[in-house]
Amino acid sequence: MQDTDEFLSNPKVLSQYNLLQELGVFQYIDTLKTQIRNGEALISSAKKILHCTSIDDILESTVKEISDRFLPSFLIFLWKPSSTHKDVVVRGYKNFKNFDLNLKIEDLSPFEAFFKQYSQPISFDLLEYQLNNPQLTDDMKEYSPEVVIPILGPSGLYGMILVGSKLLEEQYSLQELSFLDKLMSFTSLAIQNFIHYQYSVRDGKTGLFNHGFFMIRLREEIARSYRINQPFALIIIDVDKFKAFNDTYGHLAGDAVLEELARTIQKNLRSQDIPSRFGGEEFTVLLPETNRASAWVVAERLRNAAQAMQVNWSQPLPQVTISLGVALFDGTEQLEPEELVKRTDEALYQSKARGRNRTTVWGAGLLYKTQQLKSNLKIK
Ligand code: GH3
Ligand code: MG
Ligand code: MG
Repeated sequence: MQDTDEFLSNPKVLSQYNLLQELGVFQYIDTLKTQIRNGEALISSAKKILHCTSIDDILESTVKEISDRFLPSFLIFLWKPSSTHKDVVVRGYKNFKNFDLNLKIEDLSPFEAFFKQYSQPISFDLLEYQLNNPQLTDDMKEYSPEVVIPILGPSGLYGMILVGSKLLEEQYSLQELSFLDKLMSFTSLAIQNFIHYQYSVRDGKTGLFNHGFFMIRLREEIARSYRINQPFALIIIDVDKFKAFNDTYGHLAGDAVLEELARTIQKNLRSQDIPSRFGGEEFTVLLPETNRASAWVVAERLRNAAQAMQVNWSQPLPQVTISLGVALFDGTEQLEPEELVKRTDEALYQSKARGRNRTTVWGAGLLYKTQQLKSNLKIK
């Protein structure tokens, strides 16, 4: 295909210049050129957004790409981070920056019911009218959003994007709305990908990482630890006498305990630690760059926190306890992940055999025994 300049300098075209001008051919070419430029800009924006690997990057990249074109007075993103957690995360951007929102959305399901029927961006006024439920929309209304864009995927509505009116001019042009619609469909896709990824690595009941993700991270951690020549620790946690607990209080009460225990574990770790649900009432924690003494301290902190935790339930529940096994990778051994899990399991087994509600470190030496003695004295 010849380019426009070549076409325009063709003597035959030049000889028909007036006719082509009269027919609007040159104007039409200009319009097409603009459309192509816009299309290329959109593809380049989409590429940047789709390459983001965290929600923060996706949101910031979207805000930047939109703001390069025009400035909406604000953008509000709402999404459910996982299939099990009903809580809706809300994030607002004004002038490229996060802003605090007084917007509490407890549940997306009423919006989901609507967007399953109508899966397109919609003006906020129309959405409000159609839902006819002021409780749902009144808080949003305070911000006067102009457009609401659903983030839909195979498991339903993952989230929504509220777009504020334009900052400088009164209304969005049709072209801008179309750009916004297309760009937001890429943002939705990126958020969807991210949420799918989260769903695929998280355990449905507790929101902690799942067994598959844990095994992958364990293998990676062994390789990394070997490379940097630093130890790391693995903890396996098992709830004591949980079968009897379920038999007495029921499986739903048992589930509430597991959920609370997962929160307790998460709360008592550093951000780089990796807690997972290994299966049933067993959990694992990977502690990167951690030596034996620190791993012991963390395990004991978890044990004490579990013993003190309160579970919200319709009837008073007895305190549950956990037993823990700990094993270290010293950064020098050639070790298969399964072998480290086996050692940790053996340590856990020892904790059970010695009376439960305790921590055992695999292959522990004198230092650990002294610490353990001290710790037992403190507790009793
Ligand atoms: P031990 O102190 O030796 O660990 O005793 P235990 O009863 O905890 O051990 P056992 O392995 O015999 O039983 C584990 C129980 O955990 C059995 C099962 O009903 C319960 N369990 C496993 N997964 C879940 C779950 O998702 N929810 C509930 N409520 N219970 C679970
Ligand atoms: Mg068990
Ligand atoms: Mg158990």
